[in-house]
Amino acid sequence: MNRNRSASLQRRAESLIPGGVDSPVRSFRAVGGNPPWFERGSGAYLYDVDGNRYLDCIASWGALLFGHAHPAVTAAITAAAARGSSFGASCPGELELADAVVRALPAAAGIEMLRFVNSGTEATMSAVRLARGFTGREGVLKFSGAYHGHADLFLVEAGSGVATLGLATSAGVPAGAVFNTHTVPYNDLAAVEAVLEQQRGTMAAIIVEPVAGNMGCVPPAPDFLPGLRALATRHGALLIFDEVMTGFRLARGGASERYGIRPDLVTLGKILGGGLPVAAYGGRRDLMNLIAPLGPVYQAGTLSGNPLAMAAGLASLELAAAPGVYEGLEAWGLEIEQGLVQAIADTGASARVQRVGSMLTVFFCAPPVANFADARASDTRAFARFHARMLEQGILWPPSQFEAAFFGTAHGPAEAAALLAAARSALGEG
Ligand code: PMP
Repeated sequence: MNRNRSASLQRRAESLIPGGVDSPVRSFRAVGGNPPWFERGSGAYLYDVDGNRYLDCIASWGALLFGHAHPAVTAAITAAAARGSSFGASCPGELELADAVVRALPAAAGIEMLRFVNSGTEATMSAVRLARGFTGREGVLKFSGAYHGHADLFLVEAGSGVATLGLATSAGVPAGAVFNTHTVPYNDLAAVEAVLEQQRGTMAAIIVEPVAGNMGCVPPAPDFLPGLRALATRHGALLIFDEVMTGFRLARGGASERYGIRPDLVTLGKILGGGLPVAAYGGRRDLMNLIAPLGPVYQAGTLSGNPLAMAAGLASLELAAAPGVYEGLEAWGLEIEQGLVQAIADTGASARVQRVGSMLTVFFCAPPVANFADARASDTRAFARFHARMLEQGILWPPSQFEAAFFGTAHGPAEAAALLAAARSALGEG
């Protein structure tokens, strides 16, 4: 596959943009080779500047559930753009999208009010500020290998690109910013309880990816989320479900619906924006009433709730409300999971598949992955070989062992067949 134009753009970009990328996860450092540069996307496919077509299993890191350039989303954006992209004042789209979110999430999620922001990073950062403002406490408990955006306080044993690049933390983060961040292994309730006991009365929030996606796909053990709910309540800490990745993906009502757990605050992003920068945080009215201008917890944004992004989000949530969307995603995901498991068995590859709904990771290790330490035991060289062979066959797989692949409604039977044939060949080459 010729990727000369991509290689040339990458070289030029490296002199202007650090690493040639605007987000480290896009770089191919962990897998080697040059990332393709894309000029167009349509449905399940991306087209690079050299004219190659790829079956996209990254889906803008989970932001797209309905494929690239879905006609309904494109029409909504185009119509909104003609009316102006940002007013710096309220527009009806904000109300419509807020209403759609509250209706989509189950009553069980307990979102009575929400505030729109522009990125998942802003949403999680603001949710923690609110939790701290509400409780008057400063401690935050997170899980190693989880990623909640790049705000200072979260950059401790973080997942996603931080894990991919093998960084323990980030330079430039003041010690004071992470002083109150406590990190324990995912799926380890005893460790959570031990920290809560030891830090008695100081913990503002437990923040969790209800299905971890940023160390690869790691499902919660059956007792994990209910256990967190109970421990948070017992210790007077708020439970924040970071559903930036899982919201509108694992079910219309996200992980809260899928697992039937009621967090105190929820953060949303990715699919919520239909491919434009939108995220949100929300929760009970008594909590959200603390946000400025009503209350003392400050949070703001020049472009927050802009009509263009609201239109894209609304079109996306309308698509999510169609009957059968999540059943279809589950069926497609199951077919891929079973096909990959069979290919692994047939080829004798040392790998395992972990999936929840339309999130899936092929870990190059044999034992189940329940936390970041397990994930890190994977053979990242074997993963890199798999990635390169998939790319050569026109399958765009996330360029890191510590990320999930994402599927959407544009992935049909032809895509399943192509993906499984490519994977079988990639795994078979050892
Ligand atoms: N939380 C989670 C669970 C995420 O997966 C991400 C991004 N992958 C974020 C927060 C940060 O979102 P953003 O990149 O929009 O800042």
